[in-house]
Parts: sequence; structure tokens; C-alpha cells
Amino acid sequence: MRLILLGPPGAGKGTQARRLMQKYGLVQLATGDMLRAHIAADDDIGKRVKEIMASGQLVPDQLIVFMIAERISHPDCEKGFILDGFPRTVPQAEALDKMLADLDQKLDAVIKLKVDEGKLLKRIEGRFTCADCGASYHQEFHKPKVEGICDECGSDHFVVRPDDNPEKMKVRLTAFREQTAPILPYYEAKGILHSVDGMADIDAVSDAIDAILDKIAIST
Ligand code: ADP
Ligand code: AMP
Repeated sequence: MRLILLGPPGAGKGTQARRLMQKYGLVQLATGDMLRAHIAADDDIGKRVKEIMASGQLVPDQLIVFMIAERISHPDCEKGFILDGFPRTVPQAEALDKMLADLDQKLDAVIKLKVDEGKLLKRIEGRFTCADCGASYHQEFHKPKVEGICDECGSDHFVVRPDDNPEKMKVRLTAFREQTAPILPYYEAKGILHSVDGMADIDAVSDAIDAILDKIAIST
């Protein structure tokens, strides 16, 4: 199964991608996480993207496409993957189609998380992430079961993203509206676009995604 989770920053893509990864054994390909790993390693890619990411703008298509093309060809992606944060522009969506065609693969579904943009700031301002395994939490909506301890790996080391603030969120939402939203008609025309209510609680969003995936499995 090959899926895209699509939605603005804070829509819940990472949260749902992790659940799908655990449930279906798919690989989560989160371009934001991949880029942050390059920044942490302070390598060439990290040096190129550090300031762009800090500004809230999108990094160049060419770099992202190169990074995904390399990753998607690894054997662990053969069983399927969930794209989280990619594609984010029409040229990226077109490049993905070409990459998949070259691998004789196709996308099964694009799931749009429909959200109220006015409520996203509260989501990202309360977000914190496990520094060791990347599990995402929220101060109010999704606290670890034991305070200060990651549910998934037991770490007590959490990080807050430097771009999760009101000023950068404004830039990131503008990038979503202007550069990412135009890919929705692209997938709608292919008949693989599905929509779920991303404002429902985390379990309800997971159930709605599962229902879509069940339907797809039945019809294929
Ligand atoms: P994205 O990957 O789309 O940027 P995340 O999955 O990291 O978004 O979610 C952003 C924040 O909102 C996190 O703190 C997460 O715990 C919280 N969150 C995710 N989904 C929901 C939801 N359905 N309801 C409330 N909070 C949510
Ligand atoms: P995310 O973790 O998905 O919120 O992404 C964080 C930041 O990484 C974005 O604001 C962009 O600067 C960059 N980024 C992640 N994915 C992409 C992409 N597909 N295209 C361009 N920039 C990206």
C-alpha cells in the first residue's frame, strides 16, 4: 500500500502516519524529519536547508525529489510506504509519479486531513516530540501516559521544533495555501483523493482512515 497524507502543518499527518506504520508495517517517509536529521548531522544537505526551514518556507523541489527518490528505492519500501509532508508542490507530485512509474509502482490513495486553519496554531504551539524515536505529543490533546516518559520508547528526552511558533506558522500556512493546495485537483483528477475530518480526536481520525483503506482493499 502506498499512501500520501496531505494537510497543512499541524493537521496530524505525523501522528496518523506513525499509527499506520505500526498497524500495517508500512514505512513512514516524512520529508521534514529527514531534513531535520540532515541538519542534526550538519552535512551538506543540512547546511543548505537549515535557514530555509527556519524561515518556514519550502526547500527547493530538486533537493526534496532527490532525497525521496533515493529513499523510495530502498528494499524496505517495497512493501509500501506512507508519505508525510511530500509532495508539497505540483512539480514534486509530477516527479513522484515518474519515480513510481520507473519502479513499476502506483499510489493507492491520497488522504487529505481537512482542518480548521484557525485551530492549527494551538496544535503546533503545544507540540513536542520524542528526541529519540520521533513520537509526537501535545501538551493538552495527547500527553504521554506517564508524564515526561515517551509511550513508545521510554525516553525522557523531548524536543520542541524551532519553527512551531506563530510567526513561522504564518509563513508555513501561506506556503501550504499557495504551493501545496494546488496538488489536490491533481490527485482528484486521478480519482485517488479521499478526505477525512482532521479536527476529530486522534482515534476518530485513525478510524476514518482505516475505513478508507478497508474500502480500497475491497475494491482492488
Ligand atoms: P503534522 O505532522 O501534520 O504537522 P502532527 O501529527 O505532528 O501534525 O500533529 C500536530 C500536533 O497536534 C501534535 O502535537 C499532535 O499530538 C496533535 N494532534 C494530532 N492530531 C490531533 C487531533 N486529531 N486532535 C488533537 N490534536 C492532534
Ligand atoms: P514538516 O516537518 O513536514 O512540517 O516540514 C518542516 C519544513 O521542512 C517545511 O516547513 C519545509 O521547510 C521543509 N520541507 C519538508 N518537506 C518538504 C517538501 N516536500 N518540500 C519542500 N520543503 C519541505
